[in-house]
Amino acid sequence: MNYNKKTVYDIDVAGKKVLLRCDFNVPQDKATGAITSDKRIVAALPTIRYLLGQGAAVIACSHLGKPEPSFEKWVKKQTEKGKDPAELTEEKWQKSLKKLTLAPVAERLSELLGKPVVFAHDVVGPDAKAKAAALKGGEIMLLENTRFEKGETKNDPALAKELASMAEVYVSDAFGSVHRAHASTAGVAAYLPAVSGLLVAKELEVMGKALDDPKRPFVAVLGGAKVSDKIAVINNLLEKADTVIIGGGMAYTFAKAQGGEIGKSLLEEDKCAYALEMIEKAKAKGVKLLLPVDTVAAKEIPADMMGMDIGPKTIELFCAATRGAGTIVWNGPMGVFEFPAFANGTKAMAKALAESGAVTIIGGGDSAAAAEQLGFADKITHISTGGGASLEFLEGKELPGVACLLDK
Ligand code: ADP
Ligand code: MG
Repeated sequence: MNYNKKTVYDIDVAGKKVLLRCDFNVPQDKATGAITSDKRIVAALPTIRYLLGQGAAVIACSHLGKPEPSFEKWVKKQTEKGKDPAELTEEKWQKSLKKLTLAPVAERLSELLGKPVVFAHDVVGPDAKAKAAALKGGEIMLLENTRFEKGETKNDPALAKELASMAEVYVSDAFGSVHRAHASTAGVAAYLPAVSGLLVAKELEVMGKALDDPKRPFVAVLGGAKVSDKIAVINNLLEKADTVIIGGGMAYTFAKAQGGEIGKSLLEEDKCAYALEMIEKAKAKGVKLLLPVDTVAAKEIPADMMGMDIGPKTIELFCAATRGAGTIVWNGPMGVFEFPAFANGTKAMAKALAESGAVTIIGGGDSAAAAEQLGFADKITHISTGGGASLEFLEGKELPGVACLLDK
């Protein structure tokens, strides 16, 4: 995977119409629809301001939530969820779509930018086309939710072409969506010169360097609930890192595979063979593989113990292994950090990263949330903004929304 891609700095956008794919998939209050965190909108501002400052006419777009653009499929899905088909009217379906309009995002974006944001009530329909045609340099508009179009998630070339027809340049700045081959995240690049925005550029620069040319020693810290979620990450990082640390729920499968007693802890029996294979791979590659030596257990049911966090000796062992590191990549909490009683391991790890002096990178939605919640976020070099995307990045997978951009 080549991460060396052209950015907005490498292309002339003055006076041009720029289609900018953002990640405006903001959390909303279920009842009122109010935006509960504008972090993602704020994160998009540097690229938007740069483009507007260069005199580009910015046509921003994004998806929001998971609308079902086909009435028939919506009925099918709702019926599967146990809803009474007789009550599933077209009106209700329309209402479910309206809940996912990007109109509130346009409003918030306008407040943050301190200038009007024209809102189009469709994606590639007459309203979008007319407003895009009228848009001048230094002005910005936002298209309606891209997933209102059936072709979006199917990466339909017809939709990609329609999107592209409104602009002259494509800028990809929705890192959280680059692992998806959708019309607005990848397909559109077939019809326009495509470069990264500043958010995507930073993700590629920091994470790309860590994977391709890390400052050594390179320590990977892996945790989270399931081995099955992390198979490709463990496998890929064993190729790159000098030390791999495994904690979290998945460590119990490794322990069990080696004949350990794990009580009622999280176990994926069918992944024991894989765990042994990884232990062998680490040996063959000369990678130091560290597993927990003690555990913090909860008494769920009397006599049934369940491992919920790494123990104090393990904390010492793992933290010591991060000292002197040149690069540390962390994905997956060390324990069930959502409960304060089981957050010690994750907290100690976050602190170790913060104090390490290494280039530190956190990928993964829950890991990023943990670092933030525990108060270490500002001491980490880079916290990836993409949950699934950063995971696929660490897996070494080709990301369609990155592969489609122009090489430097
Ligand atoms: P990320 O989103 O950073 O990739 P994951 O989704 O893989 O991380 O894992 C996060 C989840 O793993 C958290 O909800 C956490 O509670 C859970 N987890 C961590 N340790 C354990 C454990 N010992 N038993 C069960 N679940 C665990
Ligand atoms: Mg997760």
